[in-house]
Amino acid sequence: MHCPFCEADDTKVIDSRLVADGDSVRRRRECQTCGDRFTTFETAELVMPRVVKGDGSREPFNEEKLRSGMQKALEKRPVSIESIDNALSRISHRLRATGERELPSRLVGEEVMTELRNLDGIAYVRFASVYRDFQDVKEFQTEIQKLNKELD
Ligand SMILES: [Zn+2]
Repeated sequence: MHCPFCEADDTKVIDSRLVADGDSVRRRRECQTCGDRFTTFETAELVMPRVVKGDGSREPFNEEKLRSGMQKALEKRPVSIESIDNALSRISHRLRATGERELPSRLVGEEVMTELRNLDGIAYVRFASVYRDFQDVKEFQTEIQKLNKELD
């Protein structure tokens, strides 16, 4: 790798360690020509699967869209931004780990519901009622009853 200071070709790795729970490698390098040191980060390039919507159209996975959906469901609920971030990174991780190039949007929605269910029951029901597009009040009540049983 070129030295960013003098652009010499020859730089040497002087230290290498795992960071971000082992998801990336941080390397200290030293230029053999000018002696300056710099840091590089190496992460695996994993491509997120594309999302196939109900009508068959495809769109890129959009974490911000998921985040805003979750935040809406979690409005005024006692859940920290950090918990939402962690939930989002678990979702992304699981979706990538499928190794699929395309995934149905339904599956992405189910992942969000799984996380919301663990974070906050109210937010879960809010999200599920919009996402599952409950047809009538009865269906909605059934879902709440199921949730109450699980929380008991
Ligand atoms: Zn240099």
